[in-house]
Amino acid sequence: MVHDGRVVEVLVIEDEVRLARAVAEGLTSHGFTVTLCHNGHSGYQQAKERHPDVIVLDLMLPDLSGAEVCARLRQEGVWTPILVLTARDGVSDETDVLNLGADDYLRKPFSYPVLVARCRALLRRAAAGDPAEISVDDLVLDPRRRTLRRAETPIELTRREFALLEYLMRNRGRPRTKQEILDHVWGVGYARDANVVEVYIGYLRRKVDAPFGTSTVQTVRGQGYVLKGP
Ligand code: CA
Repeated sequence: MVHDGRVVEVLVIEDEVRLARAVAEGLTSHGFTVTLCHNGHSGYQQAKERHPDVIVLDLMLPDLSGAEVCARLRQEGVWTPILVLTARDGVSDETDVLNLGADDYLRKPFSYPVLVARCRALLRRAAAGDPAEISVDDLVLDPRRRTLRRAETPIELTRREFALLEYLMRNRGRPRTKQEILDHVWGVGYARDANVVEVYIGYLRRKVDAPFGTSTVQTVRGQGYVLKGP
């Protein structure tokens, strides 16, 4: 894959050799150049030496954990986009890695088209300069620090509420269906009743709209939900 006139290199850090090879094949078939590492230490070294465009990082590694690799890179000012692979029930792990500075995560098992799409999305964000803050009107969300405020008032959200709001903010003005929201915020293949989306939209409204007398989070009949742009 060529992006901005350059070949795009993905560094895959995954100790399960068969999975790592399959991931590499999936990415290579979409034109990415892939470097494989099977442990945390070499992955960390390669991340610093090769300057890949995207890092696909497994959490469970035998020596240096994925969380540790991520934290060390960020502490050293390496801001290469990182997509973390997590086990099915690793809910607390996911919160941890996002707090450590990973950009996105994908729960196993995942499909290759989704992996490729997530890598491309990270490349686009990086190319756009990945603005530290996203704002819609006076609502300001900082994906790196995981903070949110309306005007000058800080708002506390749970991890899921935050992910949901971030998704809607990144798509401001464009209605998203319940299924799209479910796939993006809860993860593809995560079998949940789509009504959970409705429940979380309610939670969001109670926190970001009701106290401020606003109605930013809107229902689009027959379509889904949208964040009203300025
Ligand atoms: Ca592993």
